[in-house]
Amino acid sequence: PAYCQDGTAEAEVQTPEAELEFSWAILWEFIKPQLLALLGAIVLAFGAAVLNIQIPLMLGDLVNVVARYMRENPGNYLREMREPALKLLAYYGLQGLLTSGYIICLSRVGERVAADMRKQLFLSLLRQDVAFFDANKTGQLVNRLTADVQEFKSSFKLVISQGLRSITQTVGCFVSLYLISPKLTGLTVVVMPCLVGAGALIGSFLRRLSRNAQEQVAKATGVADEAIGNVRTVKAFAMEDREMQMYAVEVDKSCAMNESLGSGIAVFQGLSNIVLNCIVLGTIFAGGSLMASEELSPGDLMSFLVASQTVQRSMASISILFGQMVRGISAGARVFEYLKLEPTIPLKGGGRIPYHSLIGRVDFMNVTFSYPTRPKQQVLRNFSLALPPGKTVAIVGESGGGKRLISYPITSLLGHLYPSYSLINLLHCPGKSTVAALLERFYDPNTGVILLDGQNIRTLDPSWIRGAVIGFINQEPVLFGTSVMENIRFGKPEATDSEVIAAATLANAHAFITAFPEGYNTVVGERGVTLSGGQKQRIAIARALIKNPSILVLDEATSALDAESERVVQDALDRAASGRTVLIIAHRLSTIQRADLICVLSDGRITEAGTHFDLLSRGGLYADLIRRQRAQGQK
Ligand code: ADP
Repeated sequence: PAYCQDGTAEAEVQTPEAELEFSWAILWEFIKPQLLALLGAIVLAFGAAVLNIQIPLMLGDLVNVVARYMRENPGNYLREMREPALKLLAYYGLQGLLTSGYIICLSRVGERVAADMRKQLFLSLLRQDVAFFDANKTGQLVNRLTADVQEFKSSFKLVISQGLRSITQTVGCFVSLYLISPKLTGLTVVVMPCLVGAGALIGSFLRRLSRNAQEQVAKATGVADEAIGNVRTVKAFAMEDREMQMYAVEVDKSCAMNESLGSGIAVFQGLSNIVLNCIVLGTIFAGGSLMASEELSPGDLMSFLVASQTVQRSMASISILFGQMVRGISAGARVFEYLKLEPTIPLKGGGRIPYHSLIGRVDFMNVTFSYPTRPKQQVLRNFSLALPPGKTVAIVGESGGGKRLISYPITSLLGHLYPSYSLINLLHCPGKSTVAALLERFYDPNTGVILLDGQNIRTLDPSWIRGAVIGFINQEPVLFGTSVMENIRFGKPEATDSEVIAAATLANAHAFITAFPEGYNTVVGERGVTLSGGQKQRIAIARALIKNPSILVLDEATSALDAESERVVQDALDRAASGRTVLIIAHRLSTIQRADLICVLSDGRITEAGTHFDLLSRGGLYADLIRRQRAQGQK
């Protein structure tokens, strides 16, 4: 059952956050369809950058006109100014146009690439084996779909737009600086890189601080998330105060870190303002002396000032972009990692047995199995079991017995605190659910084979086995946040409304569904009506029955229910069982006494098999389990 795996599998296999490789080839596949828009963006951004280089020069011309007018007063000011001013205005307009253009193109490329990435990643996640999800936390996987794609997209857009612009502008403006005044440029070449370098250094230090602070915020959120997500356990142990303390500690830490980050940014801003202003002052000072010796016009000085500011800004943004690019590449690598991953068990492909000749016989032959996340623990050892067609076979084992000394919340809590504690769990989970998981082909056995009507299920089409042959009902039915109708139809997407109603009737669910004001259109799940455990279970049964499966697997289907709902559900199950091969994974022994065959699973294999009365009279483990359960019931 679910609790056997709680918190233990992931504790043992830590997915290493190792160096993932970024594949340019995969990126190219995503970019190819958007190539035209991307080229458009590049050309437009380049144009905008070139104009940005021109503008300082033209500003200089304008200033020269003004200066000359001041000196000489030659006729009409407006006439003098008109031509350079209009030209400058046109450049401004064009520059704005190109900027809008490249941003439009680029956001189109970015959004479409991101959407394609999300779709493909989602598809490849869904294709993965169950073992993959044992080894990876859902939260992290979902994060790749959201945060990582987002990060990649913004880095991609930023690097292309800003990067292109900054590099073009740095180069171009340097050329114009040189053309205006080689001497002043020489001075700049010495001073500027030192300043930008120092700025970049402090910047990277600040970014590291900011990253640490963010991690700390995430850590605090994790504490809150865990407490709120497991609020029942927290309450059951009256741990509110302790959780509050733990949260407060983390929040205070993140507060302190963010404060020092704030101070760091403040000092950096103050310093860089002083430095930048001093550069302007220095340029005017040096330029002034050149002007005195007639080597420089006032306009040139103006152009020089603006162009050198552009260089400064561009170089600073290149250094920031570099960090952004590194982050984008690692986010991209995380997105791409699973795109390349091929599941070991394919979703589709393989043989099918025509419906009318399928008899529904299952044989497990000498199956040995250990979960990929825990290769050392053999759950099944030379396990053999035959499910005769049309018969009901139940598997029982220790977990139903009185041996379970510790209740679930405590085991799960202890499992969380001490991963090795999971050892205690092992004793009580002999592997019954594992048998069902192997039949569904969620995993493949290490050795041995499983046969369906004499054919190795590895040669059969998994989507057919899961979709049409086996109806699987487990302890905690999952309903999706849509209508009852759609939830039942999940079992067979092409089913008509009347098929859905027939399945619901068979599952003892029709009456309570029609009692809802909106009947089959009632929305259930998190955002909808809350159903009782028994009602959910009956919808899950209808969902399994609508496939008209030849084999029904009931994994402790009634163990979570109270006696009354158990009776109704059991009733539905009994009806559903007729004419099908049924495998019951039993928790409560009372529900399986009528099974055609009861098998006791112990030590990874079947140690006893027979009918209820056979086994009782044999006085073995089953009789022992029954005695213990009765004793418990009487207490
Ligand atoms: P049962 O159904 O008899 O209670 P299970 O088949 O659920 O037992 O589990 C058998 C053993 O396999 C347990 O030790 C459990 O911890 C381990 N196990 C179950 N599921 C997984 C999984 N997904 N990954 C790793 N180990 C698992």
